[in-house]
Amino acid sequence: MAPWVLHVDLDQFLAAVEVLRHPELAGQPVIVGGRGDPTERAVVSTASYEAREFGVRSGMPLKLAVRKCPGAVLLPVDAPAYEAVSAEVMDTLRHVDGAVVEVLGWDEAFVGVDSDDPEATAREIQRRVLERTRLHCSVGVGDTKVRAKIATEFGKPRGTFRLTRDNWVEVMGHRPTSAIWGIGSRIEARMTALGISTVDDLAHADEGALVTAFGPTMGPHYRRLGRGVSSARVDDTPWVARAHGRETTYQRDLTDPDEIASAMRALADQVADDITAEGRACARVHLKVRFAPFFTTTRIRKLPEPTFDPALIAATALDLLTGLADPRPIRLLGVRAEMVAPEGGYADPRTTGRGGPSARASGTGGASESGPTQAGT
Ligand SMILES: [Mg+2]
Repeated sequence: MAPWVLHVDLDQFLAAVEVLRHPELAGQPVIVGGRGDPTERAVVSTASYEAREFGVRSGMPLKLAVRKCPGAVLLPVDAPAYEAVSAEVMDTLRHVDGAVVEVLGWDEAFVGVDSDDPEATAREIQRRVLERTRLHCSVGVGDTKVRAKIATEFGKPRGTFRLTRDNWVEVMGHRPTSAIWGIGSRIEARMTALGISTVDDLAHADEGALVTAFGPTMGPHYRRLGRGVSSARVDDTPWVARAHGRETTYQRDLTDPDEIASAMRALADQVADDITAEGRACARVHLKVRFAPFFTTTRIRKLPEPTFDPALIAATALDLLTGLADPRPIRLLGVRAEMVAPEGGYADPRTTGRGGPSARASGTGGASESGPTQAGT
């Protein structure tokens, strides 16, 4: 019996949950996003496969999505409903013999198993999830987490795919570096500037050059990713939050200083409630701001003393904003409180992609245009 990493990912999750409770929508283009209102600033959280045929993608502004697929049925994000179904899926996975389950989000998880036939285990997982929830999932089979996660995309929808050291070069070598989980378009662009265009280029890149460009930690990390090398340890220790954040996209840009200050205070009040519920004070304040038309930046400040005080958190965030000295109208504000570590510190080192949704839409001033999109595949 060899150890394997399986990556389980529900297919078109949010849309599939909606079709289960609205059977008349089966086979139709369905778009889930924001409050389901295309006149508002919000993004697509999930598009059904039928809607994707029109070019609709998760993360796309709702307005554009509706223009691309005028016949689509548009539905609001219903987080409690998706969380309830997600809990059933994760419970099903935890009942697989010998499985260690690491939840990555509403609709995906790593499952560590020892198996002689991981594909059979994957199909058994698909059968059980379908039986329990009537939802289809795809399963990537890998010998590391990064390979398993990438493999899933090749098995979608409703399939399985194996990606290991044996077929990594053949399957991934010719692809752009952004095909690797953990490398986004910005890093890809910087790599291209270094003459590293493909996964194979990255796997064979000069480590010194990578260290110079990305630093002593991320340089070697990216080179390992180029080979599909990452942790293979599936970790089911419950996630301990490092921070709580809230953000809002305003339906009308903010320009008035008083309005900005009270919007910041509203976010800080909610964040203060979140960290108070968690019982750990705020040590560092993170500001996120998106200026019109669509320029986003962040700033962080360490507090002299940890605090639960929303006024202090709001004042710090506001001071960071003033420090930017940017007169442009504000489209989105986000406040995040990075908490003091729990007694004894954090058990598990940060693993890529772990930890659930980063910032919750605050609900004041409308939906966040960076709503939940992790269920987009
Ligand atoms: Mg999915």
